[in-house]
Amino acid sequence: MKACIISIGNELLSGQTVDTNATWLSGKLFEIGIVTTGSWVVPDEQPRILAAIRQASQDGNLILITGGLGPTKDDLTRRAVADYWDVALEFQPELLAQISDFFEKRGKKMAPNNRSQAYIPAGMMALGNPIGTAPGLWFHKDPVHLAVMPGVPVEMKRMFVDQVVPRIARSAEESVVASGQLRCFGAGESDIAQKLGDLMKRGRNPLINCTCGSGEIVLHIIATAEDKKTAQAMIQKDKILLRQCLGDWVYGEDDQTLAAVVGDLLKARHKTIALAESCTGGLLSQMLTEIPGASDYVRAGWITYCNEAKTNQLGLSQEVIADFGAVSEPVARMMAQQAAQKSGADISVSITGIAGPGGGTDQKPVGLVYIAVVVGGDCRVEECRFPPVNRHWVRLRSALTALNLVRLRLAV
Ligand code: AMP
Ligand code: MG
Repeated sequence: MKACIISIGNELLSGQTVDTNATWLSGKLFEIGIVTTGSWVVPDEQPRILAAIRQASQDGNLILITGGLGPTKDDLTRRAVADYWDVALEFQPELLAQISDFFEKRGKKMAPNNRSQAYIPAGMMALGNPIGTAPGLWFHKDPVHLAVMPGVPVEMKRMFVDQVVPRIARSAEESVVASGQLRCFGAGESDIAQKLGDLMKRGRNPLINCTCGSGEIVLHIIATAEDKKTAQAMIQKDKILLRQCLGDWVYGEDDQTLAAVVGDLLKARHKTIALAESCTGGLLSQMLTEIPGASDYVRAGWITYCNEAKTNQLGLSQEVIADFGAVSEPVARMMAQQAAQKSGADISVSITGIAGPGGGTDQKPVGLVYIAVVVGGDCRVEECRFPPVNRHWVRLRSALTALNLVRLRLAV
């Protein structure tokens, strides 16, 4: 079974409402082994809804539609669905009774326009809506399965779980899909794709997809098998294979974060850490201390944003800042060394850089960041030249890179 999702509503195309229905539905379908092959977002216009149904029915055999089932003039889904099968809208007295009962139970009188919700395309089945007025629709004529649900997320979710899943589960049982993730840092998407070669070939099972953000690359391993256990075993096997290919670019699996991995390493090695941050303003400290139990290894942190703080708080000499500039290799080195000395930690990290958008020069452009890591007295400084995407991105990438450098130093 292959699913196609159509989300209907002008608000979804004007930036007012995020289409969370399609995301939620594709996740739920995935859990029961149904892959979504396409998703359409269309306005409240009958010809466009009809065109989307036509396209979807060429792509998949399970069509899920949400939105446009209300009682107002812009709710045109019922009519478009009737057009698609070339049938009339039929009035269903029992549906009208249910809708008016919904109002009566709340001590309200039904508005005349709610009557339009009691019309459904001939030959289709109405799906009851216990928490709203808009009934859904269900239709099954091989090979097509069609479900139409309200746009309101809570109503849609309830109707999908209670009434649509039981109707499609039988067809979905033929295979299951399971997924796992391998998380990488320190290499670009193309380096990773190069190393993996045919492992990323389309049509392979498990299928390997790649997503990226702030320097992190996530490999998604998607296995299809006749049962869950087999699919999970396939994922485990691929994780081992990918780790062999990618070596220390891989830092973790599934929902592990870089900070949690570094925290685990510090704990396992019985090491403590101290932090001295400038352009990241405490972001690195925040990431590390967010992990429960961080007090086992985080000793202290300094946010030495201005030059005076670097001299007063960390004891850097005014000369080194004057000679090399606050964003420089020697300053990063001294910040880390002083943090280690002042805190008594085994390991220390410092970050100094230009987050932008202003403050860059030809010699020192926005995105230039120095990260120093001291382990057992041995200080190594990394000069990073990050793309100047924006301030948030440079800061995030700096903190993550610092964590990754600590991870690599601890892993050996
Ligand atoms: P409708 O069923 O089209 O009357 O939609 C009712 C309300 O549900 C809309 O005003 C939106 O706020 C919300 N809604 C509709 N479609 C979606 C969607 N795809 N994702 C999230 N919210 C939605
Ligand atoms: Mg709508």
